[in-house]
Amino acid sequence: MSASLHERLRDAIGAENVKTLPEDLAVYSFDAYSEGRLPSAVVIPSEAREVSAIVKIAREFGEPIIARGAGTGLCGGAVSIDGGGVVISFARMHRLLELDVPNRRARVQPGLVNLQLSQQVASAKLFYAPDPASQRSSTIGGNIATNAGGPHCLSYGTTVNHVLSLEIVDERGDVFTTDVDDAGYDLTATLVGSEGTLGIVTSAWVRLLRLPEATRVWLAAFPDIDRASETVSAIIGAGIVPTALEMMDSVIVRAVEAAFHAGYPTDAAAVLLIENAGFEDEMDACEAAIERIAREHGALSWRAARTQAERDALWAGRKGAVGALGRIAPNYYTQDVTVPRSVLPKALHAVEKASRDNDLLVGNVFHAGDGNLHPLLAYNKRDRRQVAAVLETGNAILQAAIDLGGTISGEHGVGYEKRDAMTSVYTTEDLAAMARVRDVFDPQHALNPEKIFPAGTRCIELGTR
Ligand SMILES: Cc1cc2nc3c(=O)[nH]c(=O)nc-3n(C[C@H](O)[C@H](O)[C@H](O)COP(=O)(O)OP(=O)(O)OC[C@H]3O[C@@H](n4cnc5c(N)ncnc54)[C@H](O)[C@@H]3O)c2cc1C
Repeated sequence: MSASLHERLRDAIGAENVKTLPEDLAVYSFDAYSEGRLPSAVVIPSEAREVSAIVKIAREFGEPIIARGAGTGLCGGAVSIDGGGVVISFARMHRLLELDVPNRRARVQPGLVNLQLSQQVASAKLFYAPDPASQRSSTIGGNIATNAGGPHCLSYGTTVNHVLSLEIVDERGDVFTTDVDDAGYDLTATLVGSEGTLGIVTSAWVRLLRLPEATRVWLAAFPDIDRASETVSAIIGAGIVPTALEMMDSVIVRAVEAAFHAGYPTDAAAVLLIENAGFEDEMDACEAAIERIAREHGALSWRAARTQAERDALWAGRKGAVGALGRIAPNYYTQDVTVPRSVLPKALHAVEKASRDNDLLVGNVFHAGDGNLHPLLAYNKRDRRQVAAVLETGNAILQAAIDLGGTISGEHGVGYEKRDAMTSVYTTEDLAAMARVRDVFDPQHALNPEKIFPAGTRCIELGTR
């Protein structure tokens, strides 16, 4: 049976675009969070018509379908957990198809890398705002499927605010389109963040923004994380919403400085990286207001990046923070929780306590303006004590966020990793409503079936079908 599945796929999209050897399949058996099992095949289509054919063939053979971008996902979304299935890689569908400058929008294929979109439209003085820290490698398709956020989503909003229209291949292999401007149900918003469980994105119109006239970047250093956190609340409380407001603790600052030599103060307990963009003549007043708030809250130092090179260096430190942690430990686990901004100090103390209780090194680098924490748990996966400590610490942080009125994922999604935690924030009725939506789009649960919904939950328990 397997051979004829492979033959049919080869006939549909060409033998060179179908991977079936175990050593090739192994490459697609993990993402940035987890290692799964080998899929039955990996296919690399070049257009929606081929995606449609692949889905029809996979369904004929009873194989689940798992869409895959760059595999940078942090919740096991793009891997086959139980083994088998057809993984659709969008590595060949990576083009900017249309640029509509007057209407500030672009039509892109799902495999286009996030940063490349902004680079390709920069000559028209436009950019694509959602900027996950993984933007050098993650794809627009993966970003849409996870509703990705990023440092600049504080003022611009997450991916869902920037998707105008989608072309989707559904579970039967049929193609349909959605458009936010059309009347009727807003299916675009339903599909964004659905993690490949409702349909497969084969192209999208996305919103572009005008490059700002002026951009300023500042770095404020603090003697403790409480004062840095209070500054975050005070800035927003004063009615100032900077374009980005990121926090890094001393573990991260030292790792980043060792890697990038960007001028981060290694004696600080916490730093805030603050960016504002807009009109040049607003910038001095904005800088003065934010600096005053930071100093009133105990900032030890305040630095303004004066040149583009200095701004780039500070951002390189922030966006490379996760990689810089590689200097400290061979492995890391990224937790992703969101809490109300006002309880950030409590949440950070809970992270500190969880890491102390489990004797684990944890660094914090996160979207402070959104209350979206990313504790990075440094460990060595060859050390079983440390692996157990990571699980304990990760769970304790998750529970603390829930207890503080927060939620189980700020932006990385649910995937396989957090599907059981869904019951901590949703009632059975809530989950049943979501399950009914999935049943409409994908009655046979052929699309990324092991994701989002708690393991072992039968439809009947959720009150569907
Ligand atoms: C160092 C690092 C930093 C990160 N920083 C951020 C951050 O700041 N903000 C943030 O939100 N995330 C961040 N992430 C997580 C990750 O990069 C995002 O979730 C990203 O959107 C995943 O994109 P991808 O192309 O790698 O998708 P993949 O990992 O390949 O897939 C992710 C999910 O999308 C689905 N999918 C992929 N393509 C399609 C498609 N065409 N149609 C339907 N479903 C599809 C997959 O099935 C899977 O469920 C970070 C990850 C790393 C490793």
